[in-house]
Amino acid sequence: MSEPSIFTRILNGEIPSEIIAETANVFAIRDIAPQAPVHLLVIPKTPAYRDVVELAAGDPALLAEIVDVAHRLAEEHAGGDFRLVFNTGAAAGQTVFHVHAHVLGGGLAEGSLGG
Ligand code: 5GP
Repeated sequence: MSEPSIFTRILNGEIPSEIIAETANVFAIRDIAPQAPVHLLVIPKTPAYRDVVELAAGDPALLAEIVDVAHRLAEEHAGGDFRLVFNTGAAAGQTVFHVHAHVLGGGLAEGSLGG
């Protein structure tokens, strides 16, 4: 067994982070190093999927639930519009291999894909 991910440790209360939304299957927190005025993470409670490719193949309903929670949070925190990012693989910037969606919003540059 590998070590629990940072997100599992947050979910278990071992690392402090306010859980800003929660369903039976997913939870959401604020990113500790925000890259946009609103930068939230939506995370499945299960650590079974390393990235969005595994998640889409293994549990598409759970992926859809992440999108639904992201949408709801964007309406609450960012005026409704949002960018949804799944870094996939270390060379693409993924650092935590427990799949999670970045929800970015609020004053994003028009036409920009990132940064
Ligand atoms: P990745 O780079 O894997 O796509 O995203 C991991 C994200 O988790 C990063 O944006 C990073 O800032 C965030 N992060 C890492 N450790 C913590 C933490 O302890 N608390 C919170 N709230 N976010 C974290």
